Amino acid sequence: MLQYLSTTGGTEPVDFETAILDGFAGDGGLYVPERLPTFSLEQLDQWRSLGYIDLAFEILSLFIDSSVIKAAELKQLLTEAYAPFEKESVIPLHPLRSRKNTYIMELFYGPTLSFKDIGLAFLVNLVDFFLQRKKERLSIVVATTGDTGPATAYFAAGKSSLDAWVLYPQEFITEEQERQMTTLPHSNVYPVAVSNCPDGGDDLDLVIAKLYANKTFKKKLKLSSVNSINWGRVMMQTVHYVYGYLQVADQMGDPIDMVVPSGAFGNLCAGGLARNMGLPVGTFVVANNQNACLHRIFSQGLFKKEAIFETPSSAIDILIPYNFWRFLYFQVGMDGSKIKRWISEFKRTGNLQFDQETFESYKKGFLSYSATNEQTLSTIREIYQTENYLLDPHGAVAVIAAETLAESLNGKKVICLNTAHPAKFPDVIAAALASSILPEAANHRSIVEAQKRCQKKYACDHSHLEEALLTAMESNWDLNKVNE
Ligand SMILES: *Cc1c(COP(=O)(O)O)cnc(C)c1O
Repeated sequence: MLQYLSTTGGTEPVDFETAILDGFAGDGGLYVPERLPTFSLEQLDQWRSLGYIDLAFEILSLFIDSSVIKAAELKQLLTEAYAPFEKESVIPLHPLRSRKNTYIMELFYGPTLSFKDIGLAFLVNLVDFFLQRKKERLSIVVATTGDTGPATAYFAAGKSSLDAWVLYPQEFITEEQERQMTTLPHSNVYPVAVSNCPDGGDDLDLVIAKLYANKTFKKKLKLSSVNSINWGRVMMQTVHYVYGYLQVADQMGDPIDMVVPSGAFGNLCAGGLARNMGLPVGTFVVANNQNACLHRIFSQGLFKKEAIFETPSSAIDILIPYNFWRFLYFQVGMDGSKIKRWISEFKRTGNLQFDQETFESYKKGFLSYSATNEQTLSTIREIYQTENYLLDPHGAVAVIAAETLAESLNGKKVICLNTAHPAKFPDVIAAALASSILPEAANHRSIVEAQKRCQKKYACDHSHLEEALLTAMESNWDLNKVNE
């Protein structure tokens, strides 16, 4: 049975259920499977006719032993998770007319209109499944740059096994995203608007890490996280790469390039692992905006935190891409002591230059790009005007990266991941199209409905967030206990 270890090497192996319910590994590292399962081209060929859910079942079965979750239960979990998606195909692929052999993978048909729905639909249901079986309750805490929060809130809402605390940097997200979290009527969802976060969502990640480190508190409140530190999300996200490949490749084995708007690297970590497992991806393009931490990592071997820029693609305004460590772990022979040393050097100096051998070992098969704000807006405008297709700002970052690097890409086709629905970013769309009257494609009925509801939230200044959260979470936990 596949066991799970920590990227920083400091824990005993645990089973899948423990890895999912813990979130972070006990030594503060991230959980990884002790080995990556693989699949062959013949296997891929057999999967060609499968829909997304059946494909997900096949891939997840490589990671999850049937003694932990029975096959029928896994099928049911997947079916329920993706039932609220708007399209039967879950993640359709849309060919661009103005760019040859270029496809947009539409990852935004979930109920909260971003790709976060893909991982969280399954993960939150899975956590609930384990908790119900154990007859236990958990508090989940997530930080969001605007999309994880709504998806977590949506899927946790009304689940009696869970309290969901979703922290967001007030000044860094759109009103549409905020309302997705604050207008749910359920009593187990606690949105927390945090003001004065100088580094946006990254500041909140740090507070969550501190809550975790507080062992008594963690134990009392049964704290867990469904941020992309949770292995369940990365695992689930391997599926859309395989699915996309199967939709566009003519022959199994044809190299296909994939371009991914990236922030914390959870999505691309999954892509990289899918390739390690056997998926014939030619080049992965790491698409950044002006917050170019990943671009520096992949072009210079430099892991360095810089000041944050405000950009139109706010969901990828991330300064510290923590899932890069998870991917790196696999590229350096699963040597946790190396990862541990690098992380501590980065924490100490804020600046880590990888040695040449390490740099070569992880950048193979990757290119990267950092798109400017102006390029993002003009790409949205140009594609809309030429072919009446409206990208979201993150999809636009991917398309511009693909276009700029086209000469270096040599796969047969290219898939750009579009990670959100434009309706979440109306101000950006208005600026891009230079018009305050938005096209129909920039609207979504769920966004319009949320505008008519009352909002409910906690509000807190970043300077005392940790303390305030400890108190608020503790009192609600005790209160819910009394009510039980
Ligand atoms: C979270 C997010 C991303 C980035 O994904 P990572 O896994 O953090 O790299 C890209 N686009 C959108 C819309 C997102 O919400």
